Amino acid sequence: MRITHDLHIHTYLSTCCGDKINQTPRAILALAEEMGVTTIGFSDHVWANPGVPPSDWYRPQDENQIRRLREDLVALETDVRVLVGCEADMRAPGAFGITPELAADLDHVLLACSHFHMRDFVAQPESAAPRDVARHLLAFFISGVTSGLATSIAHPFLPLGHIEQLDAIIATISDGEFAEAFGVAGEHGVGLEITTGFLPGIDGPFSLETPLRFLTLAKQAGCHFTCGSDAHTPARQRELPQLTVLVDALGLTEDDLLPLVRATA
Ligand SMILES: [Zn+2]
Ligand SMILES: [Zn+2]
Repeated sequence: MRITHDLHIHTYLSTCCGDKINQTPRAILALAEEMGVTTIGFSDHVWANPGVPPSDWYRPQDENQIRRLREDLVALETDVRVLVGCEADMRAPGAFGITPELAADLDHVLLACSHFHMRDFVAQPESAAPRDVARHLLAFFISGVTSGLATSIAHPFLPLGHIEQLDAIIATISDGEFAEAFGVAGEHGVGLEITTGFLPGIDGPFSLETPLRFLTLAKQAGCHFTCGSDAHTPARQRELPQLTVLVDALGLTEDDLLPLVRATA
């Protein structure tokens, strides 16, 4: 299957954008056309929930992110199908960064359930021991997929801040535990993201077999998928086709994708 969508792209509006000059909606859509990508999902970081105050880092990245993006898009003409969404986040199980009202106003919500690198903001595992991080991942994931907020889970089971231990952490989660968690995601119609973050690189800190193992279990559990480059720069946007190694290893077809991102041609 050729990947024709990228549902996870950050623009200059995200504080962590790596190229604020060039990472504009206009340039992103032009590059998508050049790459033969027919659906782009904008997914800047957003925290906008009066019930759960933001961190200092999130505070400027409020619902105005969406307004600014929409203003930029008005001026653009493109053949690419544009989805306006965000990468939302959570502090702890049940404590989310967006409201159901905002989620309903968006084309998609990627919900991050593993931003554990935000140590002063996001609830932390009991310890850095692999099983403790694994338990934490499972609790966040279940809360995320049952939240009613998420279209798809951003970089699922990638515990940021603990990536160097990924193989050991994932190894402590049994097939049965994964089957149960992914079954809940499937029941709620929440997708799982296949991210460039799953590609370990040449001397990566983890094995490609690790994400392949849980993605295989997710497919068996009936989950659907979305693909995302998590681009913060044009160079990263160009890496989307590298996800083919995972998509092919899993034997995915259009039917395995969330309906939102299936090629319609
Ligand atoms: Zn993220
Ligand atoms: Zn992201």
